[in-house]
Amino acid sequence: CKRIVVKIGTSSLMLPDDSIDYQTIDRMAYVLTVLRKQGKEIVLVSSGAMGVGLNLLNLPQRPKTIPEQQAIASVGQSELMNLYSRFFSHYNQIVGQILMTRDIVEFPESRKNAENAFEQLLQMGIIPIVNENDAVSVEELDHQTKFGDNDRLSATVAEIISADLLIMLSDVDGFYDKNPMTNPDAALFHTLHKVTDKEMALAGGNGSKFGTGGMATKLTAAKHILSNNQQMVLTKAVDPTVLFEILEGKEIGTYFVN
Ligand code: ADP
Repeated sequence: CKRIVVKIGTSSLMLPDDSIDYQTIDRMAYVLTVLRKQGKEIVLVSSGAMGVGLNLLNLPQRPKTIPEQQAIASVGQSELMNLYSRFFSHYNQIVGQILMTRDIVEFPESRKNAENAFEQLLQMGIIPIVNENDAVSVEELDHQTKFGDNDRLSATVAEIISADLLIMLSDVDGFYDKNPMTNPDAALFHTLHKVTDKEMALAGGNGSKFGTGGMATKLTAAKHILSNNQQMVLTKAVDPTVLFEILEGKEIGTYFVN
């Protein structure tokens, strides 16, 4: 595996009291820098703008109107990148920001343009950090510019850059036959070769407070990955050094492969 997309979810970047988990950000910066220095090409897809924005503005929860959410995403995104830049700089690693909207990948010209930006950054040894451009993308049906969640976005990024592997880091060890948070007897799937309606039906609920995805969007991303003959691992972010183990070939989490 040379080219790797790592996606980290909001639930992994925020602590239970809704403050920012600086330790995880620091460990991610360390681990991704080590991998980069080992010759891997790394792209990080990071959620968390909304959580960080709410935190910075001292707001208890996501506001109702879309313009308010956009404003918070705008504040949160620049603070999130500020945090990443600072933590990565401790390891002498430069990062670049790429903000995506869905229409970018739908038009061949802008898609090619995005592809070139990723290629150039990777060639320069920079780690691109990607998020959806939430401050300007629109949700209305007649003008869909949103990916809607970073699970889907990360699969699209993996497609654009022809990644060898998508590693999706969440607050859960992998995909279970029922929600493990509410069912202690849930059993982990170690390997899945396809994602059908049967698997989709096992993904319950909407996920964490600030997150938008839940398990369903992770399975949709896995489906996308499998249809492109690519591979994905889903596991817990609590200790980012898990990335070393995955790349050493240890069986961790749920592995999606054809
Ligand atoms: P993230 O913020 O990392 O994107 P989410 O909180 O949105 O993650 O989604 C992960 C959550 O999905 C888990 O914490 C769990 O509560 C829920 N979930 C629902 N069904 C399942 C399942 N079958 N297997 C694993 N997790 C599940």
